[in-house]
Amino acid sequence: LDVIDAAEPSIDAFLHVSGKEALEQADAFDRRLAAGETEGLPELAGVPIAVKDMIVTKGIPTTAASKILEGWVPPYDATVIEKLKAAGMPILGKTNLDEFAQGSSTEHSAFKKTHNPWDTDRVPGGSGGGSASAVGAFETPLALGTDTGGSIRQPGALTGTVGVKPTYGGVSRYGAIAMASSLDQIGPVSRTVLDAALLQEVIGGYDRRDSTSIPRPVPPLAAAAREGMKRDLKGLKVGLVKELGGDGYQPGVEARFNDGVRLLEDMGAEVVEVSCPHFPYALAAYYIIMPSEVSSNLARYDGMRYGLRVMPPEGVPQTAANMMAATREAGFGDEVKRRIILGIYALSAGYYDAWYGSAQKVRTLIIRDFEQAFSKVDVLVSPTSPTTAFKFGDKMDDPLAMYLNDVATIPANMAGTPAMSIPAGLSEDGLPVGFQFFAPQMRDEVMYKPAAALE
Ligand code: GLN
Repeated sequence: LDVIDAAEPSIDAFLHVSGKEALEQADAFDRRLAAGETEGLPELAGVPIAVKDMIVTKGIPTTAASKILEGWVPPYDATVIEKLKAAGMPILGKTNLDEFAQGSSTEHSAFKKTHNPWDTDRVPGGSGGGSASAVGAFETPLALGTDTGGSIRQPGALTGTVGVKPTYGGVSRYGAIAMASSLDQIGPVSRTVLDAALLQEVIGGYDRRDSTSIPRPVPPLAAAAREGMKRDLKGLKVGLVKELGGDGYQPGVEARFNDGVRLLEDMGAEVVEVSCPHFPYALAAYYIIMPSEVSSNLARYDGMRYGLRVMPPEGVPQTAANMMAATREAGFGDEVKRRIILGIYALSAGYYDAWYGSAQKVRTLIIRDFEQAFSKVDVLVSPTSPTTAFKFGDKMDDPLAMYLNDVATIPANMAGTPAMSIPAGLSEDGLPVGFQFFAPQMRDEVMYKPAAALE
């Protein structure tokens, strides 16, 4: 908590620090230790953690960085929060994000800008810039994020931290505020691959309250990471995704990525180039499917059920419909409004087949690309993000330039496959570069081994 106090004036990673609750949780854990109640506790027991403000926490304000949720205090915990509490892990607070996790720089937060610890004039990436910066600035050893199109991995790359998107269905989404439900996944943010593995083991597993939760145990992730730390990758086949590189990728990013590939070879891995011909269409299809789901999910913020309510101005009939319109006009930011409008358009009669239907077909082709690739290799690799951290304001006036940050991360969300970003050294500009691994569905352990070997 002292480190948070010292770092926050320059970093601004937190929307809410729950210091009192964290100390109470730490005391409760100490009492369990003193009473010898340590049976079955995970290795991370007692280690504090920060949580992206997209995940609901009982009694602690949860805003999704939106004015429309300001003042809302959830009456329940997300499943992942229940699991952290059961593990005796104190929750330090809630971290900043782009409003409703929509963005790639955290600049779309309604409340504050979070700074990149490597250069405070630059963004930490997004949408989970708060969690990534909090870990990168040593304010917390661990954090949780949510990843719909890259919001754990891209901020990981830009802040030199580890970020994991588990297999879709591998970690319960119960209590994760819905952005695009078929793409959203909660995952770990950490400083080491082993820490991420241990955290995913704590939060993962079947949950009957999430209808897309997979009824299978969490794979042996920490064991895979420890195996990787021996730095022997003989027998591992690595596929370099041909379509994720080249044009649009900063030279320093490609250079560090190529260094990483050479290191994997030095440790005995066999590296081949693999083509995923439909990956170049992933971004376009994502920006149809994601807003469609956003437009549906965000319909619940109607001025009735949560947080903000704004009455229509005087002279306008005081009807429920006008109250909803006034609330949504005042409560949602520009980027969120843009996506709701895009989504409603893509789903509307007459356009549905041409837009949403086509995007779903592209999604199937991306899934097949992964299946084809994983019939030849064990893991796929690519740079996580085409560039290093950019300056505040650089991409705020150009939504398409902002969207391009996620070209390399989106394919995994479209297919539901696990993926992670680890730090791969510094680019020519002195800023961190991320190295991404993809593994087959429900085989998250397969990426943890080479990731731990490379870090
Ligand atoms: N940057 C992407 C977007 O704006 C990813 C968001 C996310 O993963 N939550 O949609």
